[in-house]
Amino acid sequence: MRTLTGTGVTPLSGLGRVVWYADEIELGNPPDPSEIDADAERARLEDARSTAETDLESERERAEERVGEEEAEVFGAHVQFLNDPQLREDIEDAIEEGLPAEHAVQEGFSGPIEQFEGMEGRMAERADDLRDVRDRLLRVLTDAGGTDLANLPEGSILLAERLTPSDTAKLDPERVAGFATVLGGRTSHAAIFARSLGLPAVVGVGDDLQDIEEGAELVVDGEAGEVIADPDESVRERAATIREVEIRREPVETADGRGIEVAANLGTLAELEGAVEHGADGVGLFRTEFLFLDRESPPDEDEQYETYREALSAFPDGRVVVRTLDVGGDKPIPYLDLPESENPFLGERGIRRSLGPDSELFGSQLRALLRAAAGEGSLAVMFPLVSTVEELESAIEAVERVADDLEREGVEHAVPELGVMVETPGAVFVAEELAARVDFLSIGTNDLAQYVMAAARDDDRVADLHDPLHPPVLRAIARSVEAAHANDAWIGMCGEMAGDPALTELLVGLGLDELSMSAVTIPDVKAGVAESETDAAAALAKEALESPTKHAVTNPVDQ
Ligand code: PEP
Ligand code: MG
Repeated sequence: MRTLTGTGVTPLSGLGRVVWYADEIELGNPPDPSEIDADAERARLEDARSTAETDLESERERAEERVGEEEAEVFGAHVQFLNDPQLREDIEDAIEEGLPAEHAVQEGFSGPIEQFEGMEGRMAERADDLRDVRDRLLRVLTDAGGTDLANLPEGSILLAERLTPSDTAKLDPERVAGFATVLGGRTSHAAIFARSLGLPAVVGVGDDLQDIEEGAELVVDGEAGEVIADPDESVRERAATIREVEIRREPVETADGRGIEVAANLGTLAELEGAVEHGADGVGLFRTEFLFLDRESPPDEDEQYETYREALSAFPDGRVVVRTLDVGGDKPIPYLDLPESENPFLGERGIRRSLGPDSELFGSQLRALLRAAAGEGSLAVMFPLVSTVEELESAIEAVERVADDLEREGVEHAVPELGVMVETPGAVFVAEELAARVDFLSIGTNDLAQYVMAAARDDDRVADLHDPLHPPVLRAIARSVEAAHANDAWIGMCGEMAGDPALTELLVGLGLDELSMSAVTIPDVKAGVAESETDAAAALAKEALESPTKHAVTNPVDQ
């Protein structure tokens, strides 16, 4: 047996046989141009394109069912790349010059891929999309290898250097027993998707993962954060046993009676059912930017209204916290024409855009939200990436303006509970003043850790620093909790930290009123809350807060 450790991202285990993700397809040298029949190659290209398009359509349908309509749109974007007139022309020119179809495809895609690779953030991810489309065509044209992620053999454990969001969305939880990656942390896209799909996964295992051979038997233990090669009988049995976690459908209290809301994070409505099934008390973070991604134009007010109403009707007794549009940083939207930025995480993102260039979109989103708030259920709205009191005041003024407009128009509406995300050191330092102006705060530890520790959330090289267990981040959390409670506001946490069951007792001790996470971790966190005693939890939090180093607070519940 050989055990490697990384970061577990779902409390699930899987046993299976290793399939290494081969993302490069080797073509070898092209034949002499004199041997090429251009008409035949063009016909091969057309056949391959139409097979690829049919496959993409069926994958889009599958992804729609499994992950959600908006995420599945990535396959629609791939169809557009497949039929892009400029790309088609470049590939046909290459055939004309004497290359066979597969080499022409490789050549035609190389320029655009390089172009996107040179860009920032999500634009750079477009290069991954183009590579996907190119490899799909190459797989149809050759049998030169490359892994078809949507059709992995049943019981596969996928190993990869890293996985992009579209890679992960293609995985079929019915066939894939789990995955592990060399790179990546708890907040990487692959980790977030693994949680929505309920897949056992360990990320950030490091280079030792490369030693594990294709076909080897492997256990991925997402709870312990371990990858175990050549597992012995007891480890295999443990991994193959379906973990039975009690689903608690009612809200939970600590052992001594303090109620803590345990809610779900949502990107799309497709995740609603899972949230209800796992016993969520409500929705603590609805990331509405997913409604705007991978489409040609923004959803209008009515479409948004319907979406928010649907989320509210799934939780008639719980609260649904909707976050207003959070774009910029690593979340660009092509039709919003986001400016190129040297440093997108420190540029125009979140509320900064809603109060600036996206103010119209912000207005229509607020109209949809205020209309949705008038119906049954309890809606709350929060603003992302606030760092000054002025920003919050402007956002509240926008809500008041929209309420006045709706009143004048005689449209039924209500002003929901309002809140602010604590994601920046600025927000932490004015948390008292923010809390005095709203009903609640919600801590986004993914961004808070990145800005407090000056460690980008998407840079694997600083993943150790981007850890909310560092005392600076813990102290920022404690300060925010104190500020909220001193101002009669409730305070939740919706960053990935909230969904780590190993940290539940610590978070109870830090005084959070609500924890919001991917649905799959809800049962474990509810169990953790029920087992906690507030005094013991507070003592644990005190110890962690007073510790000068992260090491002393790592996995405090195990100590
Ligand atoms: C966060 O920053 O912790 C958060 C919940 O927001 P997002 O991950 O969507 O940026
Ligand atoms: Mg954030």
